[in-house]
Amino acid sequence: MSEAGFTVAIDGPAAAGKGTISRAVARAFGFAHLDTGQIYRAVGVKVLEAGADPADPEAAEPAAMSLSDADLAHPGLRTPKAADAASKVAAIPGVRAALLEFQRDFARRPGGAVLDGRDIGTVVCPDAEVKLYVTADDETRAERRWKELHAKGDVRSFKEVAFQLAERDARDASRADAPLKPAADAVLLDTTELDIDAAVAEAAAIIKKRLGQG
Ligand code: C5P
Repeated sequence: MSEAGFTVAIDGPAAAGKGTISRAVARAFGFAHLDTGQIYRAVGVKVLEAGADPADPEAAEPAAMSLSDADLAHPGLRTPKAADAASKVAAIPGVRAALLEFQRDFARRPGGAVLDGRDIGTVVCPDAEVKLYVTADDETRAERRWKELHAKGDVRSFKEVAFQLAERDARDASRADAPLKPAADAVLLDTTELDIDAAVAEAAAIIKKRLGQG
């Protein structure tokens, strides 16, 4: 591994399998992993807990600039409410700018890094050695998220989960700053018909090849 590092950028819509693939390949190759969605969730929750509106730049920008380790370790970051707030603060350019340097520093650490999110291959790490865009059809993604929430005791209906997911994807894809879209040079990985092991194996094969091991 060179001192300059090796960056794997993994983007895609909600519940496509990015997180699972990212964690697995980071473990397999000994790379550090950053789930950048957690950072936006932490900002969103911080704004909500201050009693403010996540869509208000005057509340969200200072929250992003003062984000602490404790905010990132907040136990409520995986809830649908946090996801909704995250996608509202994420549409504010000042919030994205405040979080950029931290993500770039993480990406270039010696020893390699995997970052997953929405704009890693397009904006945060346009020079990443490997770029993957992970997708699955809408129904499959909604079903995965619904099962995940149900396993945690959340009783909301499949229809509601599907609606919230579609609403968040639409907001992420239509924002002016760093919208959700594949980088021109990203490899598309559709996980609709793939189980976790097969999806991870495909991602690992692409990384190996780029490392000159495949
Ligand atoms: O990936 P996750 O579902 O945790 O992301 C929560 C939200 O954070 C996304 O819906 C998106 O609005 C925002 N996000 C982003 N850019 C990233 C990662 C997440 O805008 N790189």
